[in-house]
Amino acid sequence: MMAEGTHNDMMPEQHQEADKDIENSLEQIAHDDSANMDWAMDERLKRMIVDLQRHWLTDYHNSREKALVELTEKLHQEFLSDQQKIRADLLQQFKEELEQTRADLETKYREQLKSESAKLTERHKRELVASKKKQWCWQCENEAIYHCCWNTAYCSVECQQGHWQTHRKFCRRKKGGSGAGAPGAAGASSSAAQ
Ligand SMILES: [Zn+2]
Ligand SMILES: [Zn+2]
Repeated sequence: MMAEGTHNDMMPEQHQEADKDIENSLEQIAHDDSANMDWAMDERLKRMIVDLQRHWLTDYHNSREKALVELTEKLHQEFLSDQQKIRADLLQQFKEELEQTRADLETKYREQLKSESAKLTERHKRELVASKKKQWCWQCENEAIYHCCWNTAYCSVECQQGHWQTHRKFCRRKKGGSGAGAPGAAGASSSAAQ
């Protein structure tokens, strides 16, 4: 009875231990299982994250490339329009400068022409006045140095002699004395040039 009693006493402990073992094993299994499950979950999650990451990266690359292409296109367009604007501005500036130069030259030329014309007019007037003060040979239209009578003068004795046949009828000087108006007459004055 003692032994049995002892045995019986021992039994609950042994059972307890066995139970504990089973418990432990179960726990271990459960733990392993959960670990396995955790691991599987991890793998799946990891794969999902990697996939997502890859997707995002592709998206990011695509949108970045698209943005870069758009930016490049925009910059190119801006460059082109800037260049066009600069070219138009330069052309406009050049046109204005050309117009200004043309206007300046025209003004300068007009003033030059005016002063030249004024000079010519002045010279012409002076020459006309001087010419009016001169007497001209009745015979040959050279400047006269011999005065015969009113409105009649000659450049030389030859011209006076050549004209005498016509002039003798009109000569006012012949009143002063017969033969006075004869060719080569002393009456031909050298002060005619006045
Ligand atoms: Zn003459
Ligand atoms: Zn005369």
